[in-house]
This record gives sequence, C-alpha cells and structure tokens, in this order.
Amino acid sequence: MTHRFVYTPTPEEMPKTADVIVIGGGPAGAGVVWALERAQPGIQTVLIEAGDQLAAGSSLASLENFRTCWSARCLAAQMTRSVEIMLHADEYFGEGSAQALSVRQRGYLFCALNESQADFYRREVQYLHTIGLNHIEYLETNEVQKRFGWLGKALIGAKFDPSAGWIDSNALVYRMVKSAPSATVLLGVKNVRLLLKGETVEGVSTSVGTISAPKVVIAAGANAILIAKNAGLKLPLVIRPRQSFTSAWRHETYPEDGPMVIGSAPYPHIRPEANQGAIMGWEYSWNTKNALPGEPVRDHLLEPIEPIEALRDPRFPSLGMLLFMRQFKHTPGEGFGDPRYLRGRHNIGYYVYRDATAAYSTAPDGSKRPYDSERAILDAYPGVKGLYLSIAHSGHGIMAAPSAGEVVAAKVLNRPLPDPIFADFGIDVPWVEHDENAL
Ligand SMILES: Cc1cc2nc3c(=O)[nH]c(=O)nc-3n(C[C@H](O)[C@H](O)[C@H](O)COP(=O)(O)OP(=O)(O)OC[C@H]3O[C@@H](n4cnc5c(N)ncnc54)[C@H](O)[C@@H]3O)c2cc1C
Repeated sequence: MTHRFVYTPTPEEMPKTADVIVIGGGPAGAGVVWALERAQPGIQTVLIEAGDQLAAGSSLASLENFRTCWSARCLAAQMTRSVEIMLHADEYFGEGSAQALSVRQRGYLFCALNESQADFYRREVQYLHTIGLNHIEYLETNEVQKRFGWLGKALIGAKFDPSAGWIDSNALVYRMVKSAPSATVLLGVKNVRLLLKGETVEGVSTSVGTISAPKVVIAAGANAILIAKNAGLKLPLVIRPRQSFTSAWRHETYPEDGPMVIGSAPYPHIRPEANQGAIMGWEYSWNTKNALPGEPVRDHLLEPIEPIEALRDPRFPSLGMLLFMRQFKHTPGEGFGDPRYLRGRHNIGYYVYRDATAAYSTAPDGSKRPYDSERAILDAYPGVKGLYLSIAHSGHGIMAAPSAGEVVAAKVLNRPLPDPIFADFGIDVPWVEHDENAL
C-alpha cells in the first residue's frame, strides 16, 4: 500500500485490511500513526477522519500552547519528550517541518499579583526543581518588572517557564501523518463502528465499507464516547466545553515576542497571535443548566452536544478582558482594558477528562474523592483484545500528541514503554500525585 490521502473514498477505494486502524485524525490519532511508523516502519495503518480535513475537532479552538512545567511527574516527562520532538521537527517529521510548525518559544509567565501568590509560586518552583525541572525560574519583583514591566505594577513576582511557547497545531497534525509513508488516510468517512467478535476486535465498518484489522485505536476526542457506546462499551470520560477568543488586535506595549501571560483565579491567559493579534482564554465554570434544561445541573456533559457552537457564552470575551484589566490594574480604555481587544473570533471545543471512576483519591477510611484529572488515558481497553485508547487529553492534547503517540504505539506493538513513568496514563491508575489544577 502506498501512502495516500483519500477524500470521501468510494467502496472500491476503501482498503480492505490494515494492521492497525486509528479512528480520529486530530492530534491524538496523528501522533499514534506517526509513532507506529517510527517504531515499525512499513506497518499498514489506516487513519479514519470523519471531517473534511484532519484536526477538525477541539484543536480548532485551542491556544496551541506547550510547556514542560508540570507538577505531576508523568505529565512533565510526557511534555518534555514532546517538546524535544517539536524542537527537532525536521529530524522527526521530515524536512520543512520545523518551518511549518513555526515553534515560538516565548515562555509562560504565571503572574503573582499578591504576596500569597508570590509565596505559592516560590514554593512551587522549589518543588519543580526537585523533579528535575531546573529551568523553571521564580522571578522576584525587580526581575519581573525589569523583564515584563509593560504588564504594570500589579505584577510583583512570577513563575516563568522559558521553554514554553506555541506552535501551528494544524501543521503538527499534518506533518506527523505525512511522515508515516505506509499510512492510508481516509477523510470524510462517516458512521465508523467497531466490529467485535465476542471480546476481540475484528476491524471497523463505515458507511462506505468494512476494514478488517486485529487492532483499532480510538482517538476521536469527545466522540470517542459515542464510538464506544455504539459497540456496547463504556469509556470512563466526561466532557466540558471550553472557550477561547482570538482578537485581531493587541495593545501596543504587549510585544510580539512577549510570553503567554497567566493571571490569578479564574486564570485568564493570553498570548500574542500573529503580528498584531492575541488569543485568550480563562477558566469559565460551565454547567449544563442551559444545555440540558430539566435535568440535574452538572459541570460536565456525558455525551457531546452538536453543534458545540450552541454552547458558546457571548459574554466570554468581554468578561475575559475585564479580568485581565482588573487583575493587572489597567484602566478602562488602556492596556488590557482597550475595547479594541473585543473584535475577533470566539472559539469553542471540548475538553475530555477521566470521569469519577477513573480519577479519584482514596482517604484513609477508604472513601473515594473524585477529582478533575489532567492525565490522558493511553492504554489498552480492558477486556477487549485489540482495542486501544488515546483519549482524555483535556487541555493539552496538542502538546502531548507526539509523546502520547509513542506510548500508545508501544502498547499496540506490545513493547516496553519509552519511560516506565508513562504507566501512570493507564486506565486503571485512578490517582497520581499533583494530577490536578492545571490550565
Ligand atoms: C479552548 C481550548 C484551548 C486549548 N488550548 C490548548 C493548548 O494551548 N495546548 C494544547 O496542547 N491543547 C489545548 N487544547 C486541548 C486540545 O485542543 C485537545 O486536547 C486536543 O485537540 C485533543 O486531541 P484529540 O485528537 O484527542 O481530539 P480532537 O482534537 O477533538 O480530534 C478528534 C478528531 O477525531 C475526529 N472524529 C471525531 N469523531 C469521529 C468519528 N466518529 N470517526 C472519525 N473521526 C472522528 C474529529 O473530526 C477530529 O478531527 C485546548 C482546547 C480548547 C477547547
């Protein structure tokens, strides 16, 4: 089979067999296809994408950021590996990839705006050094004002990750897939269903035909829930809509080479976008009240609602900029308070998380406390031979994609994990230390 992209294949164009089928052509699925080819050149993978193009899911709304600064060891190791790959894109994905990915390593500035936040970040940086993240700096007032004084006097300290930044996520997805010459990519293919015989995977059926394969990876973002459900399986997932806003404008003193700036709770975050714009988000507390009237109010959905655009809150952009203005003590009309920020595009996508059965801590009395885990599930699906998962990438599936792909490829090929710490992404690992409270 030669490498090819087929848009809305006819039944004749459909491959009949594959070594591995990957469902979903977002960052997660692309990472798996890339890593399988690297681990076993020539392996016949078929990537099935329902949309007209790859990366048609949550990554469209994302800020496309990456960072190595994570408190949980498994996440720090995962992102360190991904960043290493992204910084050497030509080597890993082929010539021209570095230019396409357009890595901007401008840093993440976690801002301390009062003394207790300053103390918290100071201690956190000390801890991060103990797990090997020695490049994370704590910036005292003089230093942070010298480097980032344009943010205003409210900024009295900061945790700074100079290795962080952002990339072109679409280019990452396409480059990963194109660097797998044995892969066949099917675009615009609907109604993918798992074919199971008893407790063994046999392939998938689609609206244009059936493909036999001994191994299938589900990497379909929020829709993974429905793909599993249609086969009578349950994935331990919940989903939350998350919004972002891309402004065509940025205030003059916010330099193009400025970092991603993160305020205090509810953590408004903003970074330069293109020459003159910016992209921002904040931790909006979503609930189902308006989406599912008549049902008990929850902070999450159990299944995706389409179109997700119906869940956008029109107040999100102006509330976000108000937060920045207030937290950084800018005045209305000036800095983050300039109304020109509000001309732009309001985006929304799903964050997919482990649910309460897959993320909980256990108290000494044996009671379980569920929490919002930041860990993806990169594992075999228990009890179904040949079924694998790359799901629950929450707010960092882009930066995780290359490394997550390597972990899933190791599982699919029954090889040792690239690092034993990646066992923490197992479906049956309910808790690891410091696995909550990230952006
Ligand atoms: C507002 C916002 C900001 C974010 N910011 C960042 C950030 O700064 N950095 C970062 O790393 N991450 C960020 N993320 C998270 C990131 O976008 C996700 O973690 C990532 O997109 C998950 O990748 P995925 O491949 O699992 O799912 P998705 O990106 O949702 O991709 C799933 C793919 O599967 C396809 N698909 C779905 N159903 C089917 C089906 N039945 N058959 C075939 N194909 C199917 C979809 O069309 C899509 O192409 C952000 C997300 C949001 C919403």
